[in-house]
Amino acid sequence: MREYRLKTVEEFEREGRGPEISVFLPVYNEEENIGPLDFKLRQALEELGRTYEIIYVDDGSTDESLDRLRERAAQDPRVRVIALRRNYGQTAAMSAGIDHARGKILIPMDADLQNDPADIIRLLEKLDRGYDVVSGWRKDRKDKWLTRRIPSSIANRLISKISGVPLHDYGCSLKAYRRDVLSDVKLYGEMHRFIPIYAKWAGARVTEIPVAHHARHAGRSKYGLSRTIKVVFDLITIKFMSSYLTKPLYLFGTAGLICLALSFISGLSAFYYKFVHDVHLNRMPLATLAMIMFAMGIQFIFMGLLAEMIVRTYHESQGKPTYLVRERINIEDESE
Ligand code: UDP
Ligand code: MG
Repeated sequence: MREYRLKTVEEFEREGRGPEISVFLPVYNEEENIGPLDFKLRQALEELGRTYEIIYVDDGSTDESLDRLRERAAQDPRVRVIALRRNYGQTAAMSAGIDHARGKILIPMDADLQNDPADIIRLLEKLDRGYDVVSGWRKDRKDKWLTRRIPSSIANRLISKISGVPLHDYGCSLKAYRRDVLSDVKLYGEMHRFIPIYAKWAGARVTEIPVAHHARHAGRSKYGLSRTIKVVFDLITIKFMSSYLTKPLYLFGTAGLICLALSFISGLSAFYYKFVHDVHLNRMPLATLAMIMFAMGIQFIFMGLLAEMIVRTYHESQGKPTYLVRERINIEDESE
């Protein structure tokens, strides 16, 4: 979890340090991949002719990964390593990478050589054309069909539809971000894949390009079908955040009203059967249904009001602004 605010580009420039590009990679038991990966990555970055740093986040590896990374860092000060205390998962590892990155452009990547460092130059070209986020799209993905590609394709379509940000491949790690768009995101669960969505909501220009994808040659994938289920839950959160975060009562209140309406209908029908057909209330599920629905309706509405209170605390305690500004002209005081 983030402890401090990410510095803005201006703050870094004022301090006069920080490379142009930060590539960060979560590493979990990738001992055999680190050598060849570091070689290819360095080669690709040298060709750019820009200043860079490479940040490896060791996510509690139990193999020799951290030793390999230490060796790399000892040879080159531009290689920086953060070792997490335990295995927190890819998203948390990426958060750590973002928090420690000093570059103006941030590029996350997998450490298993499934992403190709040679694609970085193409991502940067797009950024240079004025985009804030460039997402990689593994057009020719080399993973298992049934457990990975099909669920992922369904999930990508769902996410695109629900978020209103049409991308083919949210799950692709290789992306490029301008620092500004990351300064306000907090990552939970499997949510690193949703960064382009947050960015777009905050007014960023988002695009995608096809990138290469290779089969894993060493080590094992850490995921299977279960990840898709987590992604679906995160999607529900995203939808809630996007549509109801500022007004949860709209959601809970609607559910409450539906329950109350159902309660009213079943109550009326119960009385109809009692007085017209002379059926005893005890013999009817409708009367019970009416009472359950009534209680649920009231509950939902109160839950909504509670949620409203929580949301206010959430926004106010963190001093979250209700709007974000892209540019200020002729305004001296940045704090307004
Ligand atoms: N990873 C991590 N922590 C974890 C699981 C994975 O840091 O708990 C890293 C892993 O080392 C790799 C990246 O996240 O660099 C993607 O993992 P993986 O290749 O297993 O996922 P897949 O490509 O199969 O989706
Ligand atoms: Mg992989």
